Amino acid sequence: MKIAVCPGSFDPVTYGHLDIISRACDLFDRVYVAVLTNPAKRALFTADERVEMLSRATAELDTVYCEKFSGLVVEYAKARGAVAMVRGLRAVTDFEFELKMASMNHYLDKDIETVFMMTSNEYSFLSSSAVKEVASLGGDVSAWVPGPVAEALAKRYSAMAGSEL
Ligand code: ADP
Repeated sequence: MKIAVCPGSFDPVTYGHLDIISRACDLFDRVYVAVLTNPAKRALFTADERVEMLSRATAELDTVYCEKFSGLVVEYAKARGAVAMVRGLRAVTDFEFELKMASMNHYLDKDIETVFMMTSNEYSFLSSSAVKEVASLGGDVSAWVPGPVAEALAKRYSAMAGSEL
């Protein structure tokens, strides 16, 4: 069985992520979507909320398992029996960061390959941070994230606006 890991922050999950995850399912028998819990990186949603949104969004993909993890991705991947980590590439700017990460991970564990997938054209501009920016200003993000995620964003930002009063 070929197993892959799709690691990331997913704060929150977008259709760009879901495109990469479903394409990874076509190549691997099982895909673990791993939500990084990094206290140094301030997230809008807790790791549990992010896992719950991902699990809902991938409910129809029965070879996908969503969970949170902390520490080194290569250690997590090894523990899950994965042969590869799948990452998405959008623009040239992603390349430099991803090359650095892939090189470091290769140094840490030579048995785990990093596989890159090009973003689909319609999602090339899409990122969680852009979605958050638009949602925080009250804009419509329903073309970029699943319905429950758009609702969670609206709820979170209105709660934050309320607490600032
Ligand atoms: P990070 O926290 O490392 O920036 P993210 O959680 O944003 O990672 O995303 C996880 C993975 O999904 C990364 O490989 C990222 O490049 C990829 N990704 C995010 N948005 C898109 C998109 N619109 N198209 C393709 N890949 C994407």
